[in-house]
Amino acid sequence: MEELDSIVSGQKKHIALVAHDNKKKDLLEWVQFNRELLSQHELYATGTTGRLLEQVLNLPVIKLQSGPLGGDQQIGAKIAEGKIDFLIFFWDPLEPLPHDPDIKALLRIAVVWNIPVACNRASADFMISSPLMTSAYERALPDYEAHTERVVRALNSD
Ligand code: PGA
Repeated sequence: MEELDSIVSGQKKHIALVAHDNKKKDLLEWVQFNRELLSQHELYATGTTGRLLEQVLNLPVIKLQSGPLGGDQQIGAKIAEGKIDFLIFFWDPLEPLPHDPDIKALLRIAVVWNIPVACNRASADFMISSPLMTSAYERALPDYEAHTERVVRALNSD
C-alpha cells in the first residue's frame, strides 16, 4: 500500500458517531442541537445509534453493524482506510460491556491514525465549534515505516 504523510479532509467531513445505551440520550440531544452543522457532513454510525440518529435528525446515516456485533470494528477499519475524519464516541465509563475489547480497539486505532475523538459532550462541543470543521484540514499521519519495514527477528534466527 502507498505510504502517505497526511490526509486532507475537505469541507465535508466523514463523521462517525457511536453511543453506548446509557449515553444514547446524551448523543441524541447533542446531535439535535447541532443538526444544522451535521447536515453538511457525511454521517456514519453503529447500527442502533444510526437508527436513532436517523429518526431524530431525519438525515441519512450510513449504518454499520450494531457495536457488539462488529460495528466498532467496522468503524475502526474505515479509520485505518482513511475514510473517517473524526469520531464522536460516547462510551459508558460505568458499565462493562460484552465488546469491551472492540471499544478499546476503536479508541486505539483512532490514536494510531491521528483522528480527533470526542468521548463526551463537552469535547464534542469544542470539536464541532472548531473553525477547522468548515475548512479543509490536513491531518498529519505518523510515520510507521519503521514498523512496516521492520526485520522480523524470528525469521532471521538461523
Ligand atoms: P449500537 O452500538 O449503536 O448498535 O448500540 C454501539 C456500541 O455499543 O458500540
